[in-house]
Amino acid sequence: MATPKKKTSKSRRDMRRSHDALAAASYQECPNCGELKRPHNICPKCGQYDGKEVIAKKASN
Ligand SMILES: [Zn+2]
Repeated sequence: MATPKKKTSKSRRDMRRSHDALAAASYQECPNCGELKRPHNICPKCGQYDGKEVIAKKASN
């Protein structure tokens, strides 16, 4: 197995990890009910997508 010849310095290790942070999940307001929802997902509160398509129904609205 290939083995590194030199120990990776703290600086190089930390530079490599500079891109590892997770981005916060994005949310948008539902145009129908105003509830926060994930983009490109059916609204979990009112079950609507793209204005009027009712795909899933919930008990309370
Ligand atoms: Zn909604």
